[in-house]
Amino acid sequence: MHVTFYGGAGGVTGSKHLIDTGQQQILLDCGTFQGQADVYSRNRSLPFAPEEIDHVVLSHAHIDHCGMLPLLVKRGFSGSIFATAATRDVANYMLNDMARIQEQDADFRTRHKTGSPDSREPLFTTKDIPRTMDRFVPVPYAREGEGWRSIAPGVQLKFYDAGHILGSAVTVLEIDTDDGPKRIAYTGDVGAPGTPLFYDPQVPEEEIDTVIAESTYGGKEHKTLDEMYVRLADSINEVYDRKGKIIIPAFSLGRTQVIVYVLHRLTDEGKIPRLPVFVDSPLATNLTEVFRDHRDVYDEESITDFRKDDLPLAFRNLKYTQSVDESKALNNMPGPYIVISASGMMTAGRVVHHLRHCISDKKNAIFITGYQASGTLGRRLLQGAHRVELYGDWFNVRADVQVFNEFSAHSDHAQMSSYLSRFKGIKQVLLVHGEPSQADVFKNELAAAHKDWVVQRPDEGETIQIPPPSSA
Ligand SMILES: [Zn+2]
Repeated sequence: MHVTFYGGAGGVTGSKHLIDTGQQQILLDCGTFQGQADVYSRNRSLPFAPEEIDHVVLSHAHIDHCGMLPLLVKRGFSGSIFATAATRDVANYMLNDMARIQEQDADFRTRHKTGSPDSREPLFTTKDIPRTMDRFVPVPYAREGEGWRSIAPGVQLKFYDAGHILGSAVTVLEIDTDDGPKRIAYTGDVGAPGTPLFYDPQVPEEEIDTVIAESTYGGKEHKTLDEMYVRLADSINEVYDRKGKIIIPAFSLGRTQVIVYVLHRLTDEGKIPRLPVFVDSPLATNLTEVFRDHRDVYDEESITDFRKDDLPLAFRNLKYTQSVDESKALNNMPGPYIVISASGMMTAGRVVHHLRHCISDKKNAIFITGYQASGTLGRRLLQGAHRVELYGDWFNVRADVQVFNEFSAHSDHAQMSSYLSRFKGIKQVLLVHGEPSQADVFKNELAAAHKDWVVQRPDEGETIQIPPPSSA
């Protein structure tokens, strides 16, 4: 039995790991490559034959894990896509959003004759989404009493909480071999313990032969959430006192809901005044509805933190805006207020309009809460740019730019190391979803701490035998 890493190996995007059991081809995630110059051609050429894949297991609904599913189906995949019910519902919004953006981008490039010919045709359109969604088969978490689910002859599946975003799961596959059953765990993306709203990442109860583990924050450490709450409240109070506006650029899925939860809690605890808070992102608003449909995924703390009739993601002074007119009206409204809006790296979307109105007034503040890739406006602000271009016009940066990295949706180095140490029976660890320099720091530390583990960091395209030969 072996696994080939077609994406999300030697990098963080495009996760696609194909397990070949000898009888079955099981694909773990089918994500989109993002950020690099050649993404259009890389995404267009799927590195395997879709009709030969028996089934897909999806860890969670971030686009870099699920974004190529519609293309897979369009090109002939006819198996099932196993995921939690929440992941399925979130994926529906995410994939439709991605399809719409692709249609608009391709249309723009065709009309303006810009970009490569590859980029002028969408990979798929909104018409391709319903038949992709038809392939989903929901599987509950093991904590909900679900035992093994048979997904193919000789292959059984269990989902554990990954604590990363709504619906995210750690996958365990039990596969019959000539040598008896072998168990493969795939962590997907693993959240930090204590992240508001979600259960902490769960450790599988069974012995695991091979773990395919993420390594996003190898060599990096987050500050604690409690320190961050104090700093966040202080910053909000300062801006409130000078009647400024706070712009929080955030990813629609995950970050926005966690920020809303934290603001709700700080308000209830009297740490910040009851100032108006707006979530100005139609996708985030739709996704928040999905959160309400899946209250079973909240951890107990999130439920007990709030009164019975109180929803963690709704409070009196919070408003979800939908229309463009509502969004524009905010620009004429005097502060103090907070607006949370996408995109998270400030590359496009409504947040850019809010920045145009706010960035040159020193009363205002911009709170950066997530990773800012190089080349983005967010990265330039982090680096202290004095002038920035926003939709064709130049603006002086006078607003106070503050950074709150603790909102990260991933475990850091120490948390991931301690998480893996609690697994039983590990023979092999395969590190994915990390920049090579960071993943290698993590690899060396794990190998030194666990002499009986074979720790490897596969490159893209590499095939590795599982479990390792010595233990077969
Ligand atoms: Zn993710």
